Amino acid sequence: MKKRDYSHKISFSEGGPGDAGKTGSWRILRPVLDPNVCTPAKRNIPSCFICWLYCPDGVVSRDIPPKIDLEYCKGCGICAEECPTKAIVMVDESSFLEGVNKKPCK
Ligand code: SF4
Ligand code: SF4
Repeated sequence: MKKRDYSHKISFSEGGPGDAGKTGSWRILRPVLDPNVCTPAKRNIPSCFICWLYCPDGVVSRDIPPKIDLEYCKGCGICAEECPTKAIVMVDESSFLEGVNKKPCK
């Protein structure tokens, strides 16, 4: 049987970090990673990185612990959903704002 020639590629798309542009101020949930629960951080070995694999915007690094580029993160929550140890939680952006009156409106 004739060998297939894979020396050329047909069209494919590959997302790159920040391809969807900077997020600006519209994100409502922010991923927060707890290194005490993250497997590579706990064991100091380059393993898991499922958050890196699944992030659709490519903004999670494969560092120990993984770093999330919040300038481009869209707050979709996929990383938190896919993390097997629940090391990432989605936190309301308003809780990071200084000087915001958080009292409920009357
Ligand atoms: S998926 Fe969770 S445990 Fe795995 S590297 Fe990411 S944060 Fe750590
Ligand atoms: S919230 Fe979405 S865009 Fe942000 S790091 Fe997680 S998967 Fe990526």
